[in-house]
Amino acid sequence: MPFTLHGLPVSQGIAIGHVHLVSHALLEVNHYHISPKHIADEVARLEDALATVQGELIGLKAATTAGQGHSEVGAFVDLQLMMLADPMLVEAARGLVENRRYNAEWALVAQMELLVEQFRQIEDPYLRERQADVVQVVERLVKVLLGQPGHLPPRRRDGLGTIVVAHDLSPADTIGFRDHNIAGFVTDVGGPTSHTAIVARSLSIPAVVGLHHIRDLVQDDELLIVDGTRGVVIVGPDEDIVEEYRLRRAELELERSKLKRLRDTPPTTLDGEEIALLANIEGPKDMAQVKAVNADGIGLYRTEFLFIGRDTLPDEDEQYEAYRSVLKALPGKPVTIRTFDVGADKALNGAHARFEPNPALGLRAVRYSLAEPKMFLTQLRALLRASVHGKLRIMVPMLAHAHEIDQTLALVDKAKAELRAEKVKFDEGVQIGGMIEVPAAALALGMFVRRLSFLSIGTNDLIQYTLAIDRSDEAVVHLYDPLHPAVLKLIGGTLSTGARFGLPVSVCGEMAGDPAYTLLLLGMGLRNFSMHPGHILEIKQQVLRADLGELAPRVQRILKMDEQARVREAVERLAG
Ligand code: PEP
Ligand code: MG
Repeated sequence: MPFTLHGLPVSQGIAIGHVHLVSHALLEVNHYHISPKHIADEVARLEDALATVQGELIGLKAATTAGQGHSEVGAFVDLQLMMLADPMLVEAARGLVENRRYNAEWALVAQMELLVEQFRQIEDPYLRERQADVVQVVERLVKVLLGQPGHLPPRRRDGLGTIVVAHDLSPADTIGFRDHNIAGFVTDVGGPTSHTAIVARSLSIPAVVGLHHIRDLVQDDELLIVDGTRGVVIVGPDEDIVEEYRLRRAELELERSKLKRLRDTPPTTLDGEEIALLANIEGPKDMAQVKAVNADGIGLYRTEFLFIGRDTLPDEDEQYEAYRSVLKALPGKPVTIRTFDVGADKALNGAHARFEPNPALGLRAVRYSLAEPKMFLTQLRALLRASVHGKLRIMVPMLAHAHEIDQTLALVDKAKAELRAEKVKFDEGVQIGGMIEVPAAALALGMFVRRLSFLSIGTNDLIQYTLAIDRSDEAVVHLYDPLHPAVLKLIGGTLSTGARFGLPVSVCGEMAGDPAYTLLLLGMGLRNFSMHPGHILEIKQQVLRADLGELAPRVQRILKMDEQARVREAVERLAG
């Protein structure tokens, strides 16, 4: 009997194939004491395994950086190499072999458990997630010690691919499977920001994660369908189901190739309203994708990614180069660069890390920048210097108080005065805008409208703070609802106040890139959408089908509803 499992969709597309179960080497480790005369041999085994894994990782890195678009993978491999070199791991395990006469596998797993426990106590979710890297790197070592490295599935003759089913996969494992006709990835653990998810997306392989116990529910070779768009896995499907998914997959492929033809079509509604479709980026590396879809500009450059995962902050020149290269790549188009949004799930390393009881409500975004005025001034100087290379707009995240913007504007003036004194050119008229992400800001918009040149609604945070759910906590993810009437009221109010004061408003949260909400947002009055460049053509397709004159009154009725289920039904009917 076929059955269905639900997990988190992290990499789009449909895969049909046979299960390849990846064993969880750590569960199969024997524990035994070695005799004193074999200690030197056991240490040599450990060191040989270390050298083998280091060699594998270096080889992988060379293979991935030679290809394109896998820079994230290179960074993960670096992280694992760093962990191998850390005295707390292999060297400490060696101590256990020498002093307690543990066998090498046991010593490694014991040391790993100790480290994982330490990571588990860390409040910061990004650092806490790094425990997965410790486990993965130890798993690699143990596999080598057990003599089962790189066991890869054979190519199949029935034309179907292989679906890798694992408790967890390291990015290195994921890349290692690349040339073996792998159709999909499925794992017990992980979230949308897990490494497997990131690598699967960069390889365009459908993936579903967070399935909890799938390894216990499937057998090697069993037929599986992975729907990476909806987060569904079907185990043991019959011919009819397979046929249905084959058709759906063919439709998806056709859709994708049709979408590419929209690249140069202006995003205009049926009744002639021009809509701006802008891109969200994390750095200059994303510009190739932005150009491939011909975005109307950058609506959100998340500059904090310049900082994350490193111990030292980038200096003014390094920042200037990053901002300049993005501005130069889009001559004449608006480039909205957001000042650092560090804190919460994007915490800094090293000396800049600090313990916070509740990071999402703590020293985050503009609050952090104002608490570190030297750092903030450096960023503002770099931004102003870069402003001569294009159409820069500076955006400040997570405003809640008027004095936050007053202080920011004072720092901008200070940066300008310094540059003038140094005879450094910058655009005197550079626009400063703010993000509406906190309900307080949406409800008391006047004070921001008076001080700013544009607004952008960060729906990811606005929803998190309105509904009081941590957006990075898997346990409350089901409560995250962009269609909650309270959320829609805040978005609608921001849009109408913006329009009344003649201030441009955009949405740059995930909601803007989800075609399920495009007609609703257009009907609410949104004209500027900013999203991951991968969604732009799909949203353009929705815009081209929209008739604003017809949508607006229907959406007004939706905004009066106060039952989530009714809102959802009515929003679905907008497309019908
Ligand atoms: C948002 O909160 O919607 C947003 C765009 O900012 P980030 O996702 O970077 O917090
Ligand atoms: Mg935000």
